[in-house]
Amino acid sequence: APAETPLVVVDAHGLPYLDTKLPVKKRVADLLGRMTLAEKAGQMTQAERNALKSPGDIASYDLGSLLSGGGSVPSPNTPEAWAKMIDSYQARARATRFQIPLIYGVDAVHGHNNVIGSTIMPHNIGIGAGRDPKLAERTGAVTAKEVRATGIPWDFAPCLCVTRDERWGRSYEAFGEDPALVTAMETVINGMQGARGGKDLDRDDKVLTSAKHFVGDGGTEFGSSTTGSYTIDQGITKVTREELEAVHLAPFAEAVERGAGTVMPSYSSLDILGDDRGPVKMHANAEMINGVLKDRMGFDGFVISDWQAIDQIPGDYPSDVRTSVNAGLDMIMVPTDYQGFTRTLQDEVTAGRVSRARVDDAVSRILTQKFRLGLFERPYADTAHLDEIGSPAHRAVAREAVAKSQVLLKNDGAVLPLKPSQKVYVAGSNADDIGNQAGGWTISWQGSSGRTTTGTTILEGMRKAAPDAEISYSKDASAATDGHDVGVVVVGETPYAEGFGDVGNGNDLELTPADKAAVDKVCAAMPCAVLVVSGRPQLIGDRLGAIDALVASWLPGTEGDGVADVLYGARPFTGQLPVTWPKSEAQLPINVGDASYDPQFPYGWGLTTRAAPTPAVGGEAALKAIGVAAKVLQATGRGTSAEARELVGRARIIVQRRIGGNITEATAAPFAKADHLLLTGDLTGAVSQLTAAYRAA
Ligand code: BGC
Repeated sequence: APAETPLVVVDAHGLPYLDTKLPVKKRVADLLGRMTLAEKAGQMTQAERNALKSPGDIASYDLGSLLSGGGSVPSPNTPEAWAKMIDSYQARARATRFQIPLIYGVDAVHGHNNVIGSTIMPHNIGIGAGRDPKLAERTGAVTAKEVRATGIPWDFAPCLCVTRDERWGRSYEAFGEDPALVTAMETVINGMQGARGGKDLDRDDKVLTSAKHFVGDGGTEFGSSTTGSYTIDQGITKVTREELEAVHLAPFAEAVERGAGTVMPSYSSLDILGDDRGPVKMHANAEMINGVLKDRMGFDGFVISDWQAIDQIPGDYPSDVRTSVNAGLDMIMVPTDYQGFTRTLQDEVTAGRVSRARVDDAVSRILTQKFRLGLFERPYADTAHLDEIGSPAHRAVAREAVAKSQVLLKNDGAVLPLKPSQKVYVAGSNADDIGNQAGGWTISWQGSSGRTTTGTTILEGMRKAAPDAEISYSKDASAATDGHDVGVVVVGETPYAEGFGDVGNGNDLELTPADKAAVDKVCAAMPCAVLVVSGRPQLIGDRLGAIDALVASWLPGTEGDGVADVLYGARPFTGQLPVTWPKSEAQLPINVGDASYDPQFPYGWGLTTRAAPTPAVGGEAALKAIGVAAKVLQATGRGTSAEARELVGRARIIVQRRIGGNITEATAAPFAKADHLLLTGDLTGAVSQLTAAYRAA
């Protein structure tokens, strides 16, 4: 335990910056005025905790921040050990002459995912499928509470990437392909941080967020690279200015509005079409960081670079440092050679290549957040909350998020929901694997298969949901299939965090040969439901014909119970595709609104098992319902007259889901509320076209 006991310091040494009664702005100005250049450079430095040559370096270099990169965990990896570790670093920082606390950061991108026993939420793509902003906010609140309980005040989340090509290995970190959907899910920021304006940041259950990766990380081209070989992660985003604004910048404008405390630039480069500068590394992009983010959007938090990203800027190290700091970066995730960085930064300032005003601005921004977080007064972990990590109440929120994230793509013969009386045959690589269902950024950076943490697998969830049912399981479907009523084959990906995805799986969206064989065998023997546990769509292709029910389960995390809930009907399927589901790899990139849009399942698609209201569709309500359907269908590019009749048939299903199965409520409430994610453009034409088709039908 740290030597120093946490206490509320009010003007302890007669120093104004320690006076909690003064406004933050005054406290910052007072402290800044006392600091040397070396101390300021230290505040702008973030080192990885494993890179510390000695813990004493925290004070020697006046380090402003430490992080745990993916997998940089204490041993044993328990909540208590985390809190102790952070506190011990904090005690070092408190031994400096101004006692400036460290701000420790982690990637808690789906729950406090580094810590064994924490509540692991569905990855963002599943939250996007759930399309429930209030629930997204609650998942953020749970994450923040678990993170702050271990003494960590800063989370490098959420990722606001708008993923435009699912060959990108980080597609699962996106809420979806539509900027409106991404924007709608940004309630998660307030779940984590509390109210706009940072008023709640000093609470013991809130954390500072980091909107990342600014900007265009989800728009990188497949097959382009500055180095010659193809890359999509950390690649080049080529867009028109209009597309940049509407697709990639819009979510960041929302994040600034919501008060995100930090922003992390993207590894990628931005190449604005019609501007002859060519690709510019985002970490060197003064136009975007200084110009758009800070000046135009009015972002008043601080900008934290991504891991070693400034090293990728062309030129030598001093040039990397001055280019990035002059472009508007405030803190550099060095993360290893912190000595070299602080020295180089000071040299650049002394030589006049980085202005003192720029450094003062950066340090002021950092100190502002530290004051807002209450770190000067309460720098240490409040261990009273440690036992809430992975608590039943937190897992219940995750379970609800999982259930909501499940997208029912096909359900011929109403195979789903299952009945407890049925004898079920379960197979597939992801039916009984916590690690696979949690994906990357789980305990280790890339994640791994197997029982990496505590939770419930999908198979275990099914057995709990139907304790009296006969459920047999054979991962590779090698056991006898006869005598079963229905098969559930859980296929998909193995974990990965960054890069191309599950490279071992052929670096594409194909199912593994083993999973294909399991699907083929089970679906030939009995009515079958196939669940795809993956960070992005997988190619089902012609196999779809043999599959009765198909579910996109995404990466649900530790609460397999949530999947079981929808499988056994305790909750209805209500999820909708957050990305387009392609027929083939040749269709990629494919996004809603494309000129020739012919996916296997369109953006927004998802059947429901929610009971139909009475009357399901009729009279005035029917016309309203059609209106909603038309908007959905037009937004998915399918509102043409040739398809109208078929579309109306589907529309009724969509409407039931979209408006919560409650037509009355929809008639009373504005449609914007029921379906605001897809309300774009003038849809009057499509509505009348579909209404006419409906009447004729
Ligand atoms: C990732 C970031 C992450 C950082 C720190 C980088 O590799 O791109 O998203 O926040 O590592 O772990």
